[in-house]
Amino acid sequence: MDKREEAIKLLRTWVRQQHASGVERVVFDRDHEAVAILDEKPAAVAEVETAIPALRESLEGRFPAWAGSELLPLAEEILACEKCGLCETRSQAVPGVGHAKAKLVFVGEAPGAEEDRQGIPFVGRAGQLLDKILAAIDLSRDDVHILNILKCRPPENRNPAPDEIVACRPFLERQLEILEPKIIVGLGLFSSQWLTGKKISLTKLRETGPHEYAGIQVFATYHPAALLRNPNWKRPAWVDFQAIRKEYDRL
Ligand code: URA
Repeated sequence: MDKREEAIKLLRTWVRQQHASGVERVVFDRDHEAVAILDEKPAAVAEVETAIPALRESLEGRFPAWAGSELLPLAEEILACEKCGLCETRSQAVPGVGHAKAKLVFVGEAPGAEEDRQGIPFVGRAGQLLDKILAAIDLSRDDVHILNILKCRPPENRNPAPDEIVACRPFLERQLEILEPKIIVGLGLFSSQWLTGKKISLTKLRETGPHEYAGIQVFATYHPAALLRNPNWKRPAWVDFQAIRKEYDRL
């Protein structure tokens, strides 16, 4: 990617973030407006190039825990991604959240409405339950890392489509490569199947685990949204989380 393309991509990302947080108009100086750059008008490109360091800084401000990590340039790519149709309907992409050296990584399915609004995974009702479960095993979201298979919200929270999973796959793969966690937890059927490559039921995945992803131990458990729908699953989920904590203590 040359400097001009990089500048335009970064600027697009930044303008989308501003838009998602309610800003309707961004003026860079008296003569050039971001709107012109979105149309890729060459006259504005020099302005954008000078804006690159500031854009980088704003990303570091948004992901302070990732400063100096390869996770940050990857987040830039994710925020600017247009590889599938979800870029048309999202407010913003949701790269992930957590400690850049987390040993324990949770993988969910895709952002919901609240995650799409805030740009942070698991901040809606399911996320609040996940926070409580983490607290119950004496962890917080600052100790771990939380990612999703899809980085953008599917409209009406429908299931991820196969082409969306394929398009988004390299992002999660690279995030896991950078993080090198010791334990990965698949939250729900989609992510547990993604991580293990096994197209079997969640019950079977739970019973036959731990599994493996690229040499890393993988636990499969219920998605917190499923626990909200069916409280009977809370007891077996608690057994899973205690086993995860036990494994974490052995690291
Ligand atoms: N459900 C998910 O799988 N991921 C989120 O980020 C939120 C809800």
